[in-house]
Amino acid sequence: MLLPKFELHEPVSIEDALELKQSHGTDARLMAGGTDVLVLLKKKVIFTDTIISLLQIKELSQITQTNDTVIIGTCATMAQLSASPVIQEKFSAIKTACQSLGSHLIRNRATIGGNCCNASPAGDTIPALMIYDAKVMIESADNKRELPIKDFFKGPGKTDLTPNEILTGFKLPIPPANSGAHYIQLGKRQSSEINVVNVGSFLEYDPDTKKVLNTRIALGSVAATPIRAEKAENLLKGKPAEESSFYDAGEAARKEDCKPIDDFRGSAAYRQAMIGVLTKRTLQAAFEQAK
Ligand SMILES: Cc1cc2nc3c(=O)[nH]c(=O)nc-3n(C[C@H](O)[C@H](O)[C@H](O)COP(=O)(O)OP(=O)(O)OC[C@H]3O[C@@H](n4cnc5c(N)ncnc54)[C@H](O)[C@@H]3O)c2cc1C
Repeated sequence: MLLPKFELHEPVSIEDALELKQSHGTDARLMAGGTDVLVLLKKKVIFTDTIISLLQIKELSQITQTNDTVIIGTCATMAQLSASPVIQEKFSAIKTACQSLGSHLIRNRATIGGNCCNASPAGDTIPALMIYDAKVMIESADNKRELPIKDFFKGPGKTDLTPNEILTGFKLPIPPANSGAHYIQLGKRQSSEINVVNVGSFLEYDPDTKKVLNTRIALGSVAATPIRAEKAENLLKGKPAEESSFYDAGEAARKEDCKPIDDFRGSAAYRQAMIGVLTKRTLQAAFEQAK
């Protein structure tokens, strides 16, 4: 199967990319690593004769740290993020998620922004970004805005972006002391396989009272978009940071937060059971890191 012909634009600034997007309207497709776009074009699932590549815009690939915030450019690749010292040190669940995605070849091309804009309910980096309370940074020719990442996804393949907007990056607060996080994806094989379920958990605890101060739990592949397990989070806040509390949170996530479907990758019942197990495991691992 051959790729159809298209005109390729490679702007070197965000302004030029936005201008191109505005002038070509919905006919043009943005492309980062191309690991989704080019496959879909080849399979004739999507059609376009104009592609705007974002890869020559240097600032979109940068990972920058200020005192209390890290900004990840939309075009940072999985390989780049996994090797980044600040991601390894402060956002280890993002590192794990990036390492879980696809094969070496895919990770060298696939970007974090592309993973989010593709808006798959199974997208590996999305729960990891959600648990660190990331904000998505969005630009159009005449506006800049930010949005909590949990509000960015509108359905499978659908985001809050309007046709003239580009996702430019992610803003993440540096996690507080005595906090930890973990991410697990369950797939049928080790790589190049869309996961059956994926779970990320963040936990902050008080070392004096040994109670959970704050937690965020995100679930993938169990609803039309990745979701926060709010019932489980509310149940866990203020509880002793110990195995029985993590088990109860897992049970709440399994019974109350997720609504999986049956498909060829797994039954709804299996997915639901695994959400209970992985929620507990990620919370336990997050707690070990927090200690
Ligand atoms: C063999 C294979 C294995 C894979 N395995 C996994 C896996 O294990 N887990 C997983 O989650 N995914 C997997 N994927 C899917 C894909 O690799 C990821 O979703 C990847 O992160 C997409 O990034 P990209 O840069 O290649 O996106 P692209 O293909 O360039 O773009 C994806 C979508 O986002 C839009 N877009 C890109 N950047 C922007 C932007 N800045 N602003 C607005 N819109 C934008 C594009 O128009 C397109 O609709 C796999 C794909 C392949 C081919």
